[in-house]
Amino acid sequence: MKINVTRSSMPPFEDYIEEIRDIWDSRYLTNNGPKHQKLEEKLEEYFGVDHVVLFTNGHLALEFMIEGLDLKGEVITTPFTFASTTNSLFRKGITPVFCDINPIDYTIDVDKIEALITEKTTAIMPVHVYGKLCDTEKIQEIADKYNLRVIYDAAHAFGVFKKGVSSAAFGDASMFSFHATKVFNTIEGGCVATNNSDLAKKLNTLKNFGLDANANCVYSGGNGKMSEFQAAMGLCNLKYLDREIALRREAAEGYVSRLNGIKGIKLPPVQSEVLDNYSYFPVIFDGYKYSRDEVAQRLSINDIGARKYFYPTVNSFTCYAHLQQQNTTPISTSIAEKVLTLPLYAGLSREETDMICDIILS
Ligand SMILES: *Cc1c(COP(=O)(O)O)cnc(C)c1O
Repeated sequence: MKINVTRSSMPPFEDYIEEIRDIWDSRYLTNNGPKHQKLEEKLEEYFGVDHVVLFTNGHLALEFMIEGLDLKGEVITTPFTFASTTNSLFRKGITPVFCDINPIDYTIDVDKIEALITEKTTAIMPVHVYGKLCDTEKIQEIADKYNLRVIYDAAHAFGVFKKGVSSAAFGDASMFSFHATKVFNTIEGGCVATNNSDLAKKLNTLKNFGLDANANCVYSGGNGKMSEFQAAMGLCNLKYLDREIALRREAAEGYVSRLNGIKGIKLPPVQSEVLDNYSYFPVIFDGYKYSRDEVAQRLSINDIGARKYFYPTVNSFTCYAHLQQQNTTPISTSIAEKVLTLPLYAGLSREETDMICDIILS
């Protein structure tokens, strides 16, 4: 039996059918429909932020967020992330400047940001990698000192809270992905969370071609609208979120019980006072009897889909070779060569995590 690295969470079939039934009466399929509005309200409440703007997917949410804040020039980000983070900057005409990560929780190394700031820098775009929160206080301090924006790629951090404060509450705005493989999904989908009313208003216009109420285009906008069927999936999945995270936690505990204290294996970091969402289970193989690649291969032979995530780093992609920033982030490169994310999803059983650990340890 094959075990994939992830498995999408789905509500009971009947729940979804019940939720979409009235769409057949209203024939309201998209364009800020009732389900779209309801999901935005529920997420605003859950995040404790003033505005949530839904999008077709997380990547477009990033692109629109960059456009909405009118960012230009250079933006400081990290190469230890999914391609989407960097691509969104580049596609909006911005030069990404790669800052290294720290080896503790793999988020941006706040001590290396200031040296990268130039007169062209307009923002910092950190990533809450694997749902581990960045040093948001220090980042804000730097941003305030140099008058920069802070936009978070919070794609991994849905359901993460620090001392009761949601991951959505930091910086100028945060992007969440609701892709099928994330902790909370709307099949495809995403949002921008912000307390900036002007930004929210602009994003709502930008994602609808830039049209105002008089059918006049005030911006040359695009199309980033979430459909009612996606929103319906979100409304259903939201009801089961607590259980989803609890089951992920159980699976993660299965790994910890077997791999804790093994020489050469570093388990996922645990952040104090942070409520985790157990989005991923990244393991670092450093000085273990087998290399990361050997472990990955052994798992693969046994039909277990562990993922080298993130590998390779974004600054080694051929599309960014011209930036000549490949060798400026040694910690990112080193972690990318040693990390393996093990299968993790709600419902992955103790039997299965035991079997995976047996293979890793044998
Ligand atoms: C998933 C993800 C994205 C992109 O989100 P989509 O909803 O798939 O477009 C961006 N950044 C990170 C770190 C992600 O994991």
